[in-house]
Formats: sequence, C-alpha cells, structure tokens
Amino acid sequence: KSFDQVGMPEDVLEKVKAAGFEGPTPIQAIGWPTALSGRDMVGIAQTGSGKTLAYLLPGIVHIAAQPPLRPGDGPIGLILAPTRELAMQIHSEVMRFTEGTRIRSTAVYGGVPRYGQASDLRRGVEILIATPGRLLDFLESGTTTLKRVTYLNLDEADRMLDMGFEPQIRKVVSQIRPDRQTLMWSATWPKEIQRLARDFCREDPVKLT
Ligand code: AMP
Repeated sequence: KSFDQVGMPEDVLEKVKAAGFEGPTPIQAIGWPTALSGRDMVGIAQTGSGKTLAYLLPGIVHIAAQPPLRPGDGPIGLILAPTRELAMQIHSEVMRFTEGTRIRSTAVYGGVPRYGQASDLRRGVEILIATPGRLLDFLESGTTTLKRVTYLNLDEADRMLDMGFEPQIRKVVSQIRPDRQTLMWSATWPKEIQRLARDFCREDPVKLT
C-alpha cells in the first residue's frame, strides 16, 4: 500500500513523507484506516514496526476534530508507557510529528522532580505521555484530570503488566470516559492481555497482528 491509500489526511502525512519514509509499514497500512474509523484496536507488534506512528497519526486527526483546550482542561490524547525511557522516546516522536501544529505535548514519569512536569500539565497539553505511577500522583494531587481524554493508547501493555502496573493502570483508566477510543499494543497475546483488552475496549476491538 502507498501513503495515498490509507485514508490519512494530506496535511498529517506531509511530515511523514518529508521524513523520506516510502510508504506505511504493515501495521500502519491496516492500523491507520481502522483507528481513523473510530474503532478500538489491539495491535500485536514489536518495537521497530512503526507502532508509534500507527497510533499517533490517527490521534492527531482525532484531536484536530475536538474543541480546543480551555484553561484547566486536561489532555485529549493519553499514551501510557511502562518506563521513563519509552515515555521519552515516544515524546520525541510526538514532538517531531506535531511540530508546527497547535498540538502541545509533554511526558511525565518518575525518577525526576515533579515541578517541571506539573507546570507543563497546568499550562495544558493536548497529548500526554505518562508512566502509570507518576500520572496517578498528578491525578491525586489535582494537577491534571482525565475528563477530556477521548483517545487512549496503552503502549507495551504486556510490559506494564510484567512490571506490576495493572492496579495503577486500572485506576487511571477508570477515570476516563467509557465512550473513548482505546488502542492497545503488546508484543504477545497472553490471557492477561486478552482480559485487559476485554475490560478496556468497547465491544469487538479489531486485532492486528
Ligand atoms: P516504532 O516501531 O514506533 O518504535 O518505530 C521505529 C522507527 O521506524 C522509528 O524511528 C520511526 O520513526 C520509523 N518509522 C515509522 N514509520 C515508518 C515508515 N512508514 N517508514 C519508515 N520508517 C518508519
């Protein structure tokens, strides 16, 4: 498939083409039209498959269709990740592909002071990348809210479970409106991931392999 066969708006594709990418990866070729249709999705994919852009570009389209953030609003798109390293890596991909748009983003994770992250959150971001524990801190202190989240993405869900984050993830997701769009990514498809998918997705998520 070519970039022009995936239903992605031209302005969103511009940067991907400018990056010299020749066409969508397989997970993007199937994932983009699926996510753009508003359906929930579970992607079984490894790092290097292009999964970050598979969920990010439909997220950019999703956010562009929402009313602008007002002061005090929390993020519209939330990306959960297991580690600080992955959160930072996702954030740099997000910044690269939202540069020049009105979409702001930040990443929050443990192991560094809360102060700078808190001030980014208070200023307002359309896209938040977060590890579960630090995000819960900020929710409990009222620094941000998830009331406006309508596009939820769980990256490396299997690793988040391996690291024991299931209770934190469930707490976070319980604060998000149930009619959101949910995307989940995992390298494997064990029982625990199937259960999470059943609990977090609206009926019948599309499964991509
Ligand atoms: P990911 O699997 O999201 O970690 O992406 C792995 C790498 O592939 C990143 O450096 C991306 O920028 C790059 N990438 C994403 N989509 C494409 C594409 N369609 N063609 C070539 N490279 C891509």
